[in-house]
Amino acid sequence: VHGFKGETVAVLGLGRSGMTAARALREGGATVLAWDDGAKGRDAAEAEGFEVRDLTRSGALEGVITMIVSPGIPHLYPAPHPAIRAAWDAGVAVDNDIGLFFRSLGYDAPRTVCITGSNGKSTTSALLHHILTAAGKTAHLAGNIGRGVLDIDMPGEDDVVVLELSSYQTELARSLTPDICVFTNLSPDHLDRHAGLGGYFAAKRRLFAEGGPDRAVIGVDEDEGRFLANQLQEAPVDDRVIRVSIGKLTGPGWQVTAKKGWLAEHRKGRQVASVDLRDIPGLPGRHNHQNACAAWAAARALGLGPREIEAALRSYPGLPHRSQRIAERGGVIFVNDSKATNVDAASQALQAFRKIRWICGGLEKDGGLHALQPHFENVAKAYVIGREADAFALDLGSGVEIEICTDMATAVSRAAAEAQPGDVVLLAPAAASFDQYDNFERRGEDFIACVAALD
Ligand code: ADP
Repeated sequence: VHGFKGETVAVLGLGRSGMTAARALREGGATVLAWDDGAKGRDAAEAEGFEVRDLTRSGALEGVITMIVSPGIPHLYPAPHPAIRAAWDAGVAVDNDIGLFFRSLGYDAPRTVCITGSNGKSTTSALLHHILTAAGKTAHLAGNIGRGVLDIDMPGEDDVVVLELSSYQTELARSLTPDICVFTNLSPDHLDRHAGLGGYFAAKRRLFAEGGPDRAVIGVDEDEGRFLANQLQEAPVDDRVIRVSIGKLTGPGWQVTAKKGWLAEHRKGRQVASVDLRDIPGLPGRHNHQNACAAWAAARALGLGPREIEAALRSYPGLPHRSQRIAERGGVIFVNDSKATNVDAASQALQAFRKIRWICGGLEKDGGLHALQPHFENVAKAYVIGREADAFALDLGSGVEIEICTDMATAVSRAAAEAQPGDVVLLAPAAASFDQYDNFERRGEDFIACVAALD
């Protein structure tokens, strides 16, 4: 990281990304003061020869010009970490690794794409990365997915850096000047946490601050997206904004839509490309069609042609635990969507398939399960897992046939035994995994193992 030679920089939080930031700053000639509330992080920093200093102590920030905060540390809600309050009081700039990355980009900088929003970030990021790679570009996937952004080794001028960012990260980054900004969508459960559009406005403010050929890809299926697109646009036909929708769109602007499984790109009122998404195995369901539109738009903004993007969509392998097709046995397809940890994501999965043998349950989230009911017509039967499987089954209501299975192995073998050719055995729990697993990845892996173990 350039720009901090001879300066003192504090690093708060010494996990993977904090340690990477500390190393990058030291390489750039900065003196690093490191702190973590946990002994493990402090030991790691000490082992690499960093000065460990309690940043909450009075006077600890003397001479410090910037504090780099790790993504896991709350910077505002529910309460700022005391060291962050101390930085505010001492006039020390608070930033994160994303801000550092953008700050240190020079004239030979790579092209950068930031992907934000409530849902579909990882899929859109991975898909765009796949499209770029398939088209022969050197692309780097970083941020929330893949590696820390400061871990990327020396991206070249012709490279593309695809960054998946949470709203916490966009909020905190002091410098955020991507060439292309993608906003996927906004779901209500994010609104509560962030009071409105949260970090997205920060991203927006910066996006066009420095001029240049910047483009914004905006999902406009909610009012917030429409508002954002309108705010960014300077004229009715403005190539800087590409609208993305899985509903109906009209108007003269640049837009990418998916309706009834067909992706279509329109420019100045004319259709310039269309693709049948329905038989693409890596992208089942309307929600994935939305992600495909967003990735398509970003790839077009980067100058790729429709045919090369289409070929890459077809070869996209999907991400683990997100609508991931893991097996086919006797005409029955097995799909792992363990990442569907809430009702919103699970209802997307239930809309993506028919004749579903649905494995669900786990640690139920607030808000109940009634939003799933409209999609029960696609469900042949629900096989409920989880420590509180009885209570979960009760909350599902009477609109669907239910069997209490409690553990994954039972659910998989029961669903497989009853499935007819053409059925889909789908793990889409609509619940967190922590009652039975460390995380949703472990749950998905258990599902895969149980399917592999079938007779
Ligand atoms: P994120 O990185 O934003 O959490 P992912 O791509 O990892 O998004 O998808 C998380 C879950 O959300 C998936 O299991 C899927 O069921 C659901 N999902 C994916 N894309 C969308 C979308 N565009 N709209 C709504 N839900 C989605």
